[in-house]
Amino acid sequence: MANPQFHLSGKKDRCVWCGQPLGPPFITVDFKEGTKNAPTREVKVCNETCKTDLIETEKKFEGKAPVFIGALIWLLLSSTLSLILFSKHYNMLYLGIAGVLIMGTTAYFLPFVTPQTVQMMGYKKGFRLGRIAGIILIVVGILAGVLVYVTAPA
Ligand SMILES: [Zn+2]
Repeated sequence: MANPQFHLSGKKDRCVWCGQPLGPPFITVDFKEGTKNAPTREVKVCNETCKTDLIETEKKFEGKAPVFIGALIWLLLSSTLSLILFSKHYNMLYLGIAGVLIMGTTAYFLPFVTPQTVQMMGYKKGFRLGRIAGIILIVVGILAGVLVYVTAPA
């Protein structure tokens, strides 16, 4: 049985890696995302370069989704805890900030984005966006850390 296909959104067929409209020639690849239960799908890319980039990049993320999910859960837990407890223990704010920094670092190295994001812009730009989001989180975390440090009650 043929694999199900995966297309980017839009009227014109686009390369799933770089997001550019596909002209002939293009190539079809059987592609599986790096997450455990992802199905193998038939995708179209511009050429061998896009194919290699797509497969090599995804290989780096293979099996690492639990790390990303772990960081996300830790972020939710630590920020909730620090928001509940900081009125009594001001230092608890650092817990939430640590969660933000861990999430930012994780997102930088493992820029998992939603399937909707990929469908909109392709894998390449999707990963870039995830990476930028990671950097923003790191910057916000550092600024928040400085702010908390400066405003800490003596
Ligand atoms: Zn391409």
